[in-house]
Amino acid sequence: MLRQYELIERVTAYDPDADEATLNRAYVYTVQKHGLQKRASGDPYFSHPIEVAGLMTELKLDQETIVTALLHDTVEDTLATIDEVEEHFGPNIARLVDGVTKLSKIEAMTENERAAENLRKLFLAMSEDIRVLLVKLADRLHNMRTLHFVRSEEKRQRISRETMDIYAPLAERVGMYEYMREMQLLAFEQLEPEAYATITGRLAQIRTQEGGQVDDIALAIKQALAEAGIKVEVAGREKHPFSIWRKMAERHVSFEQITDIMAFRVLTENAIDSYRALGVLHQTWQMIPGRFKDYISTPKANGYRSLHTALIYENTMRMEVQIRTQEMHHTNEFGLAAHWAYKQGDRPDGQVGWLRDLIEIVDASHDADELLEHTRLAIYQDRIFAFTPKGALYQLPKGATAVDFAYAVHTDLGNTAVGAKINGRHMPLRAQLGNGDVVEVIKSRKTEPQLSWLSFVVTGKARAAIRRSVRAKERQEVAEIGGKLFEEIAARLPVKIGKKAIKAAVKRLDLKDEEDLMFSVGAGKLDDAEVMDALVPGSSATLAEQGEWPTGDLAISIRGLTPGMAFHLADCCHPVPGDRIVGLREPGKKVEVHTIDCLSLANGVDSDWLDLSWGERSTGAIGRLRLVLFDRPGTLAEVTGIFARNLANVVNLQLVQRDEPFGTFEVDLEVSDVAHLTRIAGSLRSSEAVAEAVRI
Ligand code: MN
Repeated sequence: MLRQYELIERVTAYDPDADEATLNRAYVYTVQKHGLQKRASGDPYFSHPIEVAGLMTELKLDQETIVTALLHDTVEDTLATIDEVEEHFGPNIARLVDGVTKLSKIEAMTENERAAENLRKLFLAMSEDIRVLLVKLADRLHNMRTLHFVRSEEKRQRISRETMDIYAPLAERVGMYEYMREMQLLAFEQLEPEAYATITGRLAQIRTQEGGQVDDIALAIKQALAEAGIKVEVAGREKHPFSIWRKMAERHVSFEQITDIMAFRVLTENAIDSYRALGVLHQTWQMIPGRFKDYISTPKANGYRSLHTALIYENTMRMEVQIRTQEMHHTNEFGLAAHWAYKQGDRPDGQVGWLRDLIEIVDASHDADELLEHTRLAIYQDRIFAFTPKGALYQLPKGATAVDFAYAVHTDLGNTAVGAKINGRHMPLRAQLGNGDVVEVIKSRKTEPQLSWLSFVVTGKARAAIRRSVRAKERQEVAEIGGKLFEEIAARLPVKIGKKAIKAAVKRLDLKDEEDLMFSVGAGKLDDAEVMDALVPGSSATLAEQGEWPTGDLAISIRGLTPGMAFHLADCCHPVPGDRIVGLREPGKKVEVHTIDCLSLANGVDSDWLDLSWGERSTGAIGRLRLVLFDRPGTLAEVTGIFARNLANVVNLQLVQRDEPFGTFEVDLEVSDVAHLTRIAGSLRSSEAVAEAVRI
């Protein structure tokens, strides 16, 4: 275990301005807080955070990161609180420690293997400061190094699986290959003990048989390049057992078939020398086609830069060669951490945000794709991640609500949602979710999606599902109205209409089925004559000739009034032919005609009430509809088109309320009767542009 003075010497070696007093306090604090707690190894617990801090000094990270590493388990595992940490070490450290603690909680929550990719993204999203992630990766690396002390086989397996699925790929994502390789190797040893033993055994065998060959080849490479005047450092190594095993598994080959077990790294002084060295090596030894990669001109997503090639040495041995500059090498091995490392004289405010450093990297890269990849971490800040009570993870855009979550889980869950419990508390469905929230959707069978949800959902899936459901319900209503209208139309025909005639009509009209026919009638897509002719060809013309079919415009007539008595259709309820009506008569005034359910009838208790009905051929009354339209181009044109197709004259149209993205309108239409008005309303409701169409 690192002693207190050793740790501090390491930090001051690369950062002479580091505040020793703070580092000392953090060291003492973690020792005191963890007290007598023990590790599985029998060591005092505090040896762990101190070793993690030691790992951070290897990356030359700033003082805040070192202090965070020292304190990283105090809030999770001791009586210390975040408030106390803030009191002693200030808000920045408290925020960083809190970040690491939150990551630890997620780790404890879920063991769902399939969620690994989501979980990695969650880690990135929650590591709002990259230093949080670096401490977490070092924490995991140290835990892996000491994993063999853990007695429980099951626990060792679980931690190794997690490391393989989540932490090693995360380390790779931020370019920390050293961490990635060591984590993979330690996890591999636990997960595949037999394969591990076989491969390491075979490697040891090769080493004794061909002893010194790695060094010989390294020397040969160095000499070949020196003759061409290129100064390089060459390091040779065997590939690490996990990558050999992965190759065996992925390509279904045996150990013997993997020939390029040796790999060499050539470090040059500048990029031009890297390309020159490549040329020399390709001329000296046979290159293996298809293996050459230029990651210098096109770096990997995480910023990795190098040339890769494979050669055949002395006509027998295949080997892999990586060529890059010293500087690229350093960045490659420690990725973002290398960029984050303490830079002397570059910290005017003592604070360097990792994002600012990312911007520096991006500025230096001059490449749109690379820029996009580098800012990927930042992109995850626009996402939130929420869990079901069982621990399944869902990724949603920031601003997503409980409704979005419900639809993300399953369309049926969204369609039946009535409420939500977020982190155990009852919340409205419109409540916005935060990172790491546990969301339980409360459902009921007796409910359906509400149109108003469209004003707060943010995911396309929720939006589409709500629209679909609302439309389906409206379609059903329109089809029901259509069914009634159809019966009236059919009754006018001289023959009885049975199932067979309906089937034939569906076919003639090129519709899907009977429901589709009823919907078309209800929505006003077919007029009465078309329906009649489809049922009994030619029947509409015959009926018109016989005078049983109203053809011309006819005025309103009302039964129950003394002839010559003046009347007025009330403006409050806009009665149209077909409505049940009553008349209110006051001396010296016209009779006011209202619908029977008009609310203003309550004001007319002192008037004479006349029981009225519509005359045979009444037409041309004014009906009023309230329309809620989606506010977007073309909506009004579409709506007026519907009026025109239904032969309804628009008398008045006005906007009464605007409530983004909706506009509420009232429209007065001249219609022949209530069926006509109902049909227009149905036709409107079947339009994409219309959210609601009701009679008022
Ligand atoms: Mn820890």
